[in-house]
Amino acid sequence: MTITHHPDEETLLAFASGSLDEPRSVVVAAHVALCPCCRATVAAFEQFGGALVERAPPAAARAGSLDETLARLDEAAPPAPALHQPEPDCPGVLAPYEVGRWRWIGPGVHWRKVEVPESEGTRVFMLKAAPGSSLPHHGHSGVEWTCVLQGAFRHDLGRYGPGDFDAADDTVDHTPLVEEGDICICLVAMQGDLELRGWLGRLLQPFVRL
Ligand SMILES: [Zn+2]
Repeated sequence: MTITHHPDEETLLAFASGSLDEPRSVVVAAHVALCPCCRATVAAFEQFGGALVERAPPAAARAGSLDETLARLDEAAPPAPALHQPEPDCPGVLAPYEVGRWRWIGPGVHWRKVEVPESEGTRVFMLKAAPGSSLPHHGHSGVEWTCVLQGAFRHDLGRYGPGDFDAADDTVDHTPLVEEGDICICLVAMQGDLELRGWLGRLLQPFVRL
């Protein structure tokens, strides 16, 4: 697996310190699970965070702040308890969450909800698209973070294969095209509403709003 697109360091630091919201953490965790390079960076940030806590003078430390920090580090760690048996095409990071059934949302494209508690309008879902299919031309009103689990797609900013992380914001208005050869499955955290364009988009909009 050759991973060419990674979360930036600011994102990995927020992930390691537990300050990233849960929906986006899940997508970063999926990437980190597949990327030895980012795993090393996160481990270094966690170690650094631990050292800062140990060195803090007692007077400066609020009562309970060590416990809070450790709890936050625990939250950032890959989830241990498997409350739900993940399906074969579900990454391990989704084990603590209920995952809905695949639903058709367009030609060659299926969608399913992941029950991660919503945070500031950010929701988590998986997309499965047939080889050669294109996702409806769309824009969005907030951030859209994607981790590719299988297959590959391309859009204006490059090729995204297994393990690649794509952070698009509301300035991106794109039509991802799935490569031939393999079904493409992605884990997505999306903030705000997906705005589908064109006649196909208007046709699909009621389904995607589900
Ligand atoms: Zn990485």
